[in-house]
Amino acid sequence: MDLGIKGRRAIVCASSKGLGRACAIALANEGVHVTITARGAEALAKTAAEIRAANPGITVTEVAGDITTPDGRAAVLKACPDPDILINNAGGPPPGDFRNWTRDDWIKALDANMLTPIELIKATVDGMMARKFGRIVNITSAAVKAPIDILGLSNGARAGLTGFIAGLSRKTVINNVTINALLPGPFETDRLIGTAKIESERRGIPAEQILADRAKLNPAGRFGDPEEFGLACAFLCAAKAGYITGQNILLDGGAFPGTL
Ligand code: NAP
Repeated sequence: MDLGIKGRRAIVCASSKGLGRACAIALANEGVHVTITARGAEALAKTAAEIRAANPGITVTEVAGDITTPDGRAAVLKACPDPDILINNAGGPPPGDFRNWTRDDWIKALDANMLTPIELIKATVDGMMARKFGRIVNITSAAVKAPIDILGLSNGARAGLTGFIAGLSRKTVINNVTINALLPGPFETDRLIGTAKIESERRGIPAEQILADRAKLNPAGRFGDPEEFGLACAFLCAAKAGYITGQNILLDGGAFPGTL
């Protein structure tokens, strides 16, 4: 299926690895010029080289920096001032007990998972509306629908973003600018493997066993493949996806047990 976005420009935040990387690859495969970001320059350069090699017709721009800082965002916006597509993503906050979290911990989580996407939307949405095309996808978490107790920082910050977007997305669609969120359940990325390693050390069980047990608990009997996530993201960015806005779409293999 041709998504009709060849030649469009996208900013894909936090995209040297994992879900962000998969989104950048899926968009690039559709002929979208991509600006990709991450803090670590080496992995970012590797991903950029892979995308370039697979898609010689597009421009791949890499911007190393922390997207949760004003300087990091300014650098990305300088590299791609008028994106048609914005994929908001950043690392998730650490787990823990809310009794131990300080105001600074909360501010960091809010900066990363609520205020950074809002700042990037603020910087780009009016241009999109003026040009009558824009697709914004926020990568949030299945925890927005089914909170995970030890991930309280993530639950809170992402719920704040979700509430804000619910209002804004109904105002931008008149100009063919949609804003949606993709809510990942367990996807096989470095982050997921990293959390299994931490649990492995804590419980003295091999990480492979922890991962296999967790995968079995999912109705699909497996973790999500990042490629599946990237393709869903690209679909939300399609020329003909202009009637989908303000939606929070779960990609979790059916793990959320609700009817709606
Ligand atoms: P990942 O495999 O660890 O990849 C994270 C990517 O983001 C890396 O490229 C990383 O590169 C970059 N990054 C992290 N913090 C950044 C920052 N401050 N500025 C710029 N780039 C940054 O993680 P993932 O699994 O793809 O997760 C992506 C998001 O989805 C996270 O917010 C996570 O909490 C959420 N999520 C994931 C899952 C899952 O199962 N995978 C489930 C629910 C929610 P650098 O480290 O070099 O910056």
